[in-house]
Amino acid sequence: MSVKALILDLDNTIYPVPSIGEELFKPVFDVLQNSSDYEGELEDIKQDMMRIPFQKVAAKYKFSKSLEEKVDSVLRNLTYEKEFPPFEDYAHLRKMPHQKFLVTTGYTKMQQSKVDQLSLEKDFEEIHIVDPSKTKQTKKDVFKSILERYTLSASEVWVVGDDPQSEIKAGKELGLTTVLYSKNGNHTTHATHAISHFKELGELLANK
Ligand SMILES: [Mg+2]
Repeated sequence: MSVKALILDLDNTIYPVPSIGEELFKPVFDVLQNSSDYEGELEDIKQDMMRIPFQKVAAKYKFSKSLEEKVDSVLRNLTYEKEFPPFEDYAHLRKMPHQKFLVTTGYTKMQQSKVDQLSLEKDFEEIHIVDPSKTKQTKKDVFKSILERYTLSASEVWVVGDDPQSEIKAGKELGLTTVLYSKNGNHTTHATHAISHFKELGELLANK
C-alpha cells in the first residue's frame, strides 16, 4: 500500500452542512436579519456561511467591525446538540484501511460538537480543529506536522476535501495528492483527482 494516510476535511466532505445549517446558524441569521451593516444579499451570505469560514464571509460582504464582533461572539459559543448522519457514502471511507486524520477549520466548540454528534472520534488517528479566532495556525501547518510526526513522505498522503481554496490548496503546496470531493459535480479545479462518491476514492487508491 503506497498511500498510507488520508487527510480529510469535515464540512461538506463528511456531512452536508445544509442538512443542519439553517438550524445551527439560526442565532447568526437572526442577528443579520436585523442588521444593515454589510453589503450584499442575506441569502448569499447564508449560502457562504455553510461553505467557507466566517472570517472570509465577513470580509467578502464587508461586515462592519461591530457586526463582525457581534456575530463572532455568537459563533464562539454555538454548538449543535443533536445527532445527525454523515453522507451515505462515508461508510466506504470508514472501511478503508488507511490511517485517517481529520483537519477542519472553524470555531472550536462548534466543530467539536459536530465531531461528537457524528461519532467521528473512533474513525480517526487524530482530529484537529484549526480555529482562526484563536490561532494563526493553518491547515497547511497541521498537514506538515502530521507528515513529520508520522514520518510520512508526500507520496504517501492524500488530501480529500470540498474546498479548492483550503485543504486542496494546502495539500498542493506540500506536494500531496489532492482529491476534490463534490456532490454537485463541480469539478473545475486543479486538484489531482475529482470525485463525487467515496467509492471512487477506493477505486483510485486500489490502483496505487
Ligand atoms: Mg469543507
